[in-house]
This record gives sequence, structure tokens and C-alpha cells, in this order.
Amino acid sequence: MLEGIRDAVRKFLGGTTSYDVAVDEFIKDLQKALISSDVQVKLVFSLTNKIKERLKKESPPTSLERREWFIKIVYDELSSLFGGDKEPEVNPGSLPYVIMLVGVQGTGKTTTAGKLAYFYKKRGYKVALVGADVYRPAALEQLMQLGKQIGVPVYGEPGEKDAVGIAKRGVEKLLSEKYELIIVDTAGRHGYGEEAKLLEEMKEIYESVKPNEVILVIDASLGQKAYDLAKRFHEASKVGSIIITKMDGTAKGGGALSAVVATGAPIKFIGTGEKIDELEVFNPKRFVARVLG
Ligand code: GDP
Repeated sequence: MLEGIRDAVRKFLGGTTSYDVAVDEFIKDLQKALISSDVQVKLVFSLTNKIKERLKKESPPTSLERREWFIKIVYDELSSLFGGDKEPEVNPGSLPYVIMLVGVQGTGKTTTAGKLAYFYKKRGYKVALVGADVYRPAALEQLMQLGKQIGVPVYGEPGEKDAVGIAKRGVEKLLSEKYELIIVDTAGRHGYGEEAKLLEEMKEIYESVKPNEVILVIDASLGQKAYDLAKRFHEASKVGSIIITKMDGTAKGGGALSAVVATGAPIKFIGTGEKIDELEVFNPKRFVARVLG
């Protein structure tokens, strides 16, 4: 994972070799760490080339030690992969707006559906939820509880097994009731070896609901697996943004970089706990500092 970068930063800042040698070594270590975290080779080289160009063009501000200045450039360039200085736009561009949540079971999808509903309700939107996870028996019940807690209606069909039908009927009904922001929770598993079926179902829901945005929910501890997973979900239903859950845990969330690269989608929020209000708008700089630091 990206631990390699942390070690390289430490080695670089504490090293005794000459600055130029240390820079070359650092860049090699950075490339190795990124490539071993499944970041595309093309992207790795474009990132390190940008760093090298800035080194040539800019001179260190006098207040900063040269080595620290160099690391700041690395931070800046890595942050720009995640959106740079700007926090992402999270308000819907048009109304009504339908969000479909996808991701594997246990990542915190249902919890995140509740958190998002609460987040947008607080911003003044008329929000509703649809429970289309028919494979985890408790999922609908869990969503209903969350809805009750935050005062947001939940559409569900207890006992019904046709997730595509539920999603379609739910969104239609809620649109006709003039809800402005509708969040659809989907299944995360179909049993072992049934992944193709899950992805097929995502695709069918995507095509029948035609959401304005698909959000991929991934767990901060996913690491290298994030790239493949994000890519497969992206192929089934075009992923528009990403939420990283469990950022309050020990995992640094380095796999998120791979998910961003695999989908080209920005990270919009991070989950920082189990409670309904533990959702934060993503801040690229803070995130990179965490991944590296
Ligand atoms: P789903 O299967 O993806 O729908 O997952 P759930 O929403 O049921 O969440 C699985 C577990 O992760 C639950 O125990 C949640 O409370 C927990 N969880 C979800 N998001 C977060 C988070 O941001 N931080 C922490 N610590 N736990 C979370």
C-alpha cells in the first residue's frame, strides 16, 4: 500500500546524502510505492514528471528548508490527484436528483445511505430513501430505523425479491410525491462466487432507475483490492463519485487513490464513525496528509 511513501518521506527528511541524490532516490521510491498500490504506470510517471518540473522551475522559499519544501511539492501534486485545494461540490446540480449507492457488503453502504439522507435534509432538501438490498434480510429494517431516527421516509417492499422492480417503483413513487433527493440503497452480495450476478443487478437497476449519480461506497481498509473492485462497479454502472467509510479506523485509506484512478470519479465524502452525523465532506489536502503522514 502507500506505507512505502511514508517510509520514503521519513528517509528523505532524515537522510544525510546530498539533496540531489536524495531527491532522485525519493522519486524512485515514490514511483515504486504508487505502482505497487496499483496506480496506473502512466499516471505515476505524469505525477513524478510534474514534481521534477516544479523542482527545476521553482526555488525554495527562504523560510522553508529545502527538503521540507520538496515534500510540500509532493503533497501538493498528490493532493491535486484528489481534487487539489477545492472541496468537492456536493449539492445536486438539478432537482429532483436520484443517487444510487453501490459497494460490497459490510462497507457501510446502508449506514451511509442514512448519513447522506441526514446531511441533505439538514441542507433543506426534501429527502427520501429506497431500500433495494433484498439479499441482506436486515438491510431494509436497518434503513427503516435510520429513516425513523432522522425523519426521512423509506420506501421498501418487505419480502419482495425483485430488487430492480423495488428500485424502479420506489423512485417513481417518491418522484410523484415530489421528493427532491432520493437515495437508493442496493445489495452488496449475492453469496460467494455470485459477483457477476450482483454486477448484473447493479447494471439493471442503473438502467431502469437512471440515477443522476452513482456513488461507490468503499471501506478505508480495502487497500489494493479497491482498484479492481472500483473498476468492475464502474463498468456495471458508471460511478460518478466515491465515499470512503471507516476513516476513523486504523486504515489510512490509501486504496482510495486506486479507486479514484480506476473510475476517474472524485471522492465526495468520508465516513468517520458509526453515528448518523459522522460524515464529512472530503478534503483532499487533509486526506493526503493522512495517507502520507
Ligand atoms: P452494508 O452491508 O454495506 O450496508 O454495511 P452497514 O451499513 O450495515 O455497515 C457495516 C458496519 O460498519 C456497521 O457496523 C456500521 O455501523 C459500520 N460503519 C459504517 N460506516 C462506518 C464508519 O464510517 N466508521 C465506522 N467506525 N463504522 C462504520
